[in-house]
Formats: sequence, structure tokens, C-alpha cells
Amino acid sequence: MKTDAKKFLLQEKEIPEAWYNILPDMPVKPQPLLDPATKRELKADDLYPLFAEELAKQEVNTVDRWIEIPEEVRDMYKIWRPTPLVRATGLEKALDTPAHIYFKNESVSPVGSHKLNSAIPQAYYCKKQGVTNITTETGAGQWGAALSLAARHFGLELAVYMVKVSYNQKPYRRSIMQTYGAEVIASPSMSTKAGRKIITDNPNCQGSLGTAISEAVELAMSTPNCKYTLGSVLNHVALHQTVIGLEAEKQMEMAGEYPDVVIGCFGGGSNFSGISFPFLRHNLSGGRSTRFVAAEPESCPKLTKGEFRYDFGDEAGYTPLIPMLTLGHDFMPANIHAGGLRYHGAGSIVSRLKKDGFIDAVDIPQLETFAAATLFARTEGIIPAPESSHAIAAAIREANSAKEAGKHTVILFNLSGHGLIDMASYDRYFAGDLIDCKYNP
Ligand SMILES: *Cc1c(COP(=O)(O)O)cnc(C)c1O
Repeated sequence: MKTDAKKFLLQEKEIPEAWYNILPDMPVKPQPLLDPATKRELKADDLYPLFAEELAKQEVNTVDRWIEIPEEVRDMYKIWRPTPLVRATGLEKALDTPAHIYFKNESVSPVGSHKLNSAIPQAYYCKKQGVTNITTETGAGQWGAALSLAARHFGLELAVYMVKVSYNQKPYRRSIMQTYGAEVIASPSMSTKAGRKIITDNPNCQGSLGTAISEAVELAMSTPNCKYTLGSVLNHVALHQTVIGLEAEKQMEMAGEYPDVVIGCFGGGSNFSGISFPFLRHNLSGGRSTRFVAAEPESCPKLTKGEFRYDFGDEAGYTPLIPMLTLGHDFMPANIHAGGLRYHGAGSIVSRLKKDGFIDAVDIPQLETFAAATLFARTEGIIPAPESSHAIAAAIREANSAKEAGKHTVILFNLSGHGLIDMASYDRYFAGDLIDCKYNP
């Protein structure tokens, strides 16, 4: 049944009751996490010192396809979920394309991005086991903002290491975190061994997610009753984000269509996984042949140019070894404005799926993403986050190919966040100050 509706809304009671775990459905499972010292496979209880136990169990769960969402988490999801699915009719018209373009609008969360989908369960499971303090890192500040709200809700003390380049470029995200009551530290900092070493070697270092992770892990390991949390890359984060795709699946049904292409921008993989995995499960079961496209920055192309091997999740090498597509944990990405995509590696599930040909990736120059963002703002009204603009640029490429081929294509992309706190980046774009940053290994 076709419809001309602009947006597709679910009711509160239709918020998913379980997250979808793709691991049981993968024909080849990712290799295990390894202890860097002994190279021994890490089991859930090896991860307990670092993560809440329930999250550690989710991380290595290859058995349960559906994992129940706790009532307390669903209750907090109700603040903004279910999110709308929107048909980008204005963008379609501007592109004069036969394609139908849909986007899942995750920017409507109180903090403006999808990150809250995982921040809430992570804070919840920490609280449930009696943890009092948590630490984390944040790139553009989106994850830190989300976790600050979640930590406040569940009564946890939070320390956030924020990548220095973003701390200076995006002061309002720091204000947001402080509003919710978190402590925010620019990384690299002098407050940890890892930070001091980096500053000593390179006093002008502007930081990276890898560096900030090292600092947050170090603080968690040296503080009593404290756990570390991570906003992307890990399996349990991808798991929590599947609420996006599970809702979108029902909403595409309301629209009377099924996506030929599903697109997400790619930092460590959580929003891409969230929109993709629920649809990918129908490819894995043989029923569908949707294409999945991860959109990464040209300057940080781990999926298109990375190497598949074990690597650390952080700069200093504190985390377990993760089997991943990686540019090397010491890779320093250019200071592009999509701060949330400046990460050297991809999560182990996505890396495996890419290696086995289940997903595609494209790398996109910075100026193309801002051109796409501007067109989207002018046609759909929403000013996208610079990260999300990578997904929009990829969707525009698909819509243009559909036009050339004269083919009706159904495109679905995830709008991971809005850019209202990123207007300084837009200013620089309009002033002609932004450049394309090539990949510099
Ligand atoms: C953090 C962030 C990303 C990148 O992280 P993923 O884990 O790859 O999703 C993308 N978009 C926005 C708005 C973000 O905040």
C-alpha cells in the first residue's frame, strides 16, 4: 500500500521490548577480544573490572538473539522515543530523483543525537550493581552529553575526557555536560599518566578519541567503585542502538516500502549498526538483498582503507585487543569538523561483516558533506550534525545514481543528530575556510 505521508509515527507502547543481537545470526562470528599481555581470549568476567557485569555479558553474548530492554530503560526512552521516520520529499524534489528517500530522525533526543540510546542502559546497569562513579571519553561531545543526562538520572558521578580540538571548537557541548552535572576535562590532560606522556611528546597535541579513551580507562581503573563506559565500537553499544532499526522496520512497513539501500555515517559503528542490523537480519536469513552503506570521512577511512587485524581501541594501548578494521591505534586523524567520526577503527562485528561482504563503505570529502548538509537544511528544515552529513552525502550519491539509471530506489538513512551546536563549523564552511583533508597514513 503506497502513501504520500510525510512522516511515520509509532506509539509509545511500540518502543521495542528487546534489542536485536546480530551475533547469533552471523555466519562467521568475530574473533574474540584478547588480553594484550597474554593474548588469551577474554571472557565476560575478565571484563568486569572495566565494565558493568551485565554489559560485559552482552559484549560476548553470541547465543541470545533478543535481549530484553529493562523497564527502567524503556521508561526513560519514552522521553523522546519512538523517533519519527520521515520521507525527505523536499530533498527528492531538489535532486529530481525517482528514488524515495527516508530518514530516521534520531536528532529529536533531548541531547540531539542517537547516543542516548546506549547511555541510558549503560548508566542503568552500572547503578543496578552498585557502582557510584563512571568515566568516559567524548569526541564532539555528543556521547558525553548523553551520558551526563543518563548519569544524572540514575544518580552516578561522571568524569568526561573531551578531545581537546572539540573542547575548543564546541564549547556549548561542554556547557551541556556541565548543566547535567558532569565534570569535563580537555584531553590530553595532565591528570593521567597517558595524558602526561602525550603532552610531553607533543605539547600541541589536539587529542583524539583514542587518547581520551586511554585517560578515561586509566581513571576508571584507579578509582574505587568506578566503571568505564564507551559510546561506540563495542558490541553492547551496537546492540542498544538497534532500537533505531527495529522502529524503522515497522515504520517502513507503514510507508508500504522496503529499503533497497540503508545508510549510516560511521565513527566507530554504533548508529550505522543500529539502523542496519535489524534489516540485515533479513539478508542473513536469505529473505532480502538490501545494500548497507557506511559513510566515513575521507580523512579517516578505516573501512575503505584500513587493515583487518587485532588492534587496541585506544591510543595508549590500555584496552583489550579488538579484531577490527583499523588505521592503527596511533593514527592521528585530521582536525575535521565531524569530531565524532575521528576514530581509528571499526567495531569487531562491523569489521567482520565488511570483510565477509555483507556491508559496503564509502569515504567522503569534507566539503561534499557540508554541501549535502546545506541542501538538506534548505529542503528538509533540519540542520544536521557534521557527522550525520556524511550519511546525507552518501544518500544523495545513491539518489543521483538512481536518477542516472532511471531506477526507482528506496533509500533509508539515519539522521544521527542535529547540528545546532555545530554552527561554528557551518560558519567556517560559508566563509570558505574549510578544506578537504586527504588520508595521511
Ligand atoms: C558519535 C556520533 C556519530 C559517530 O558514532 P557512531 O558510533 O559511528 O555512530 C555519528 N553521528 C553523531 C551525531 C554522533 O554524535
